[in-house]
Amino acid sequence: MNYDDMLDRGIEQAPEIQPESDRLSVPDPDVRQEGHVTVFENFRDVRRALSREPDHLLKFLQDELGTSAHIDESDRARLTGDFGARRIGNAIETYTDQYVLCSECGLPDTSIEREQGAELLQCAACGARSPT
Ligand SMILES: [Zn+2]
Repeated sequence: MNYDDMLDRGIEQAPEIQPESDRLSVPDPDVRQEGHVTVFENFRDVRRALSREPDHLLKFLQDELGTSAHIDESDRARLTGDFGARRIGNAIETYTDQYVLCSECGLPDTSIEREQGAELLQCAACGARSPT
């Protein structure tokens, strides 16, 4: 058997992968420094990819990075302090795990519900409700 045949067999035997539309595609954060402020240029694209309210994501970033932040007139997030793209990317990954992906089925078809002051992640794909 030559190498190409092995590759073909490998593809045939691979388990079915999920279709592209089921996977969450979140852009990498595009950040730049402006004095003592970190400007998160594509904040809008990221939070749209996550289907979450801007204030919800912003508040999480403030808590996670331990700083203050606001959204400017161009829908960019402006964070006080010096934060690299990797640090912000890690925070967004944490947010995605906690507030976007269903803990039962792992799909991003979720919404945040509030019940008696607590946040619940409601999954449209499998119906699970889990505390955030
Ligand atoms: Zn689910």
